[in-house]
Amino acid sequence: MTLLPVSDALERLLRAFTPVCPETVPLRQAHGRIAAEDIKSRLTQPPFDASAMDGYAVRHADLADGPATLKLIGEAPAGSVFSGTIGPGEAVRIFTGGVMPKGADTVIIQENTEKPAEDMVRILESAPRGKNIRRAGGDFRNGDILVEKGTRLTSRHIGLLAAANVATLPVSRIPRVALLSTGDELVEVGGTVTAGQIVNSNAVMLSTLLEHQGAEVLELGIARDNESSLRIMAEQVRDVDLFVTIGGASVGDHDLVQKVLGTQGLEVDFWKIAMRPGKPLIFGHYRDIPMLGLPGNPASAYVCALVFLLPALHRLQGRRSSGAQKVMVSLSCALPANGPRQHYLRARIDSDAQGRLVADLAGAQDSGWLSPLARSNGLLIRPPQAPAAAQDALIPALMLPE
Ligand code: AMP
Ligand code: MG
Repeated sequence: MTLLPVSDALERLLRAFTPVCPETVPLRQAHGRIAAEDIKSRLTQPPFDASAMDGYAVRHADLADGPATLKLIGEAPAGSVFSGTIGPGEAVRIFTGGVMPKGADTVIIQENTEKPAEDMVRILESAPRGKNIRRAGGDFRNGDILVEKGTRLTSRHIGLLAAANVATLPVSRIPRVALLSTGDELVEVGGTVTAGQIVNSNAVMLSTLLEHQGAEVLELGIARDNESSLRIMAEQVRDVDLFVTIGGASVGDHDLVQKVLGTQGLEVDFWKIAMRPGKPLIFGHYRDIPMLGLPGNPASAYVCALVFLLPALHRLQGRRSSGAQKVMVSLSCALPANGPRQHYLRARIDSDAQGRLVADLAGAQDSGWLSPLARSNGLLIRPPQAPAAAQDALIPALMLPE
């Protein structure tokens, strides 16, 4: 069987996903969720011309002849409105956020004034007409689109929507992902590890990655490497948007995922990708549920999760951009020419004194090793047959999420 190029596999996989339905949530709970529609403002901000500084609201014309002494006719603190009108030779004491009084067109900061008497202010230094005023609607207007559909909502968006008095909003329902580990050798974290056994590290690694990315994860546990165990465990898979298996995806006698699930309703779309690590990845549908069969080696499982699972989740969420962030990095050491598979090298990416992103390999690139993966924060991408890359060469990389 020929190996499928990564880009073809990703395209085929993404075609199988459509965004989940929206639900309405209170603003406070929208953090980290994905806007399911364009979100519009419900008011104009600022709602009125407001002072941007503490000082005095004046008529600019009164300052045309240099320093001037003006009569104070009132105050305009934030939260109340001065009801009068400023006439020639008059000023109003104003504070940041205060409504600009009628007649005034400029605010002079208090640092540039003196108080010769209780009801007088002397303007020592003028300012351009209109200075220190935040105009009504300068930030946004009622009905403006403030957040575009597909945006992941940060606390900054939440603050903006709060200012626009948006109390509830439509976001994508949280996608549900079922995660099934496979292997006779696996013991759950904290269990007793006897001869021949290893800890199921992949399930927690991937669950936490998926949860951080906004999925709800149903950890189904460990299916043993026999037909009945795998069949029984897979029977639990229902009401999910995506089914992920870990391990048993390769060609060994104990790699049963395709063989067993194939008799239980799994239709394979593709298997085996021209990538390293992660070649044995399976994609298909298990009883109409999209299914991703990840290889069991921890670095392979993680790289496949980053390259395929993350974009799939983002597509389910209806995000505008899907997958890990791609950046260009310069190499701290030369790399040899690449073979026929796209190679993802675990690397540490940091900015140097000039702010350039520089990548160091994070140690051995063994697909079973977790410590280089944990040290890394990026994956260098070496396309199939890429020529050798010199030190300082710029190459593409994927940044790893937290
Ligand atoms: P497999 O893909 O099932 O052939 O497994 C490949 C390698 O990954 C083997 O050394 C397994 O022991 C290991 N492995 C499989 N599943 C997990 C898991 N959930 N956590 C940690 N290692 C695993
Ligand atoms: Mg196995």
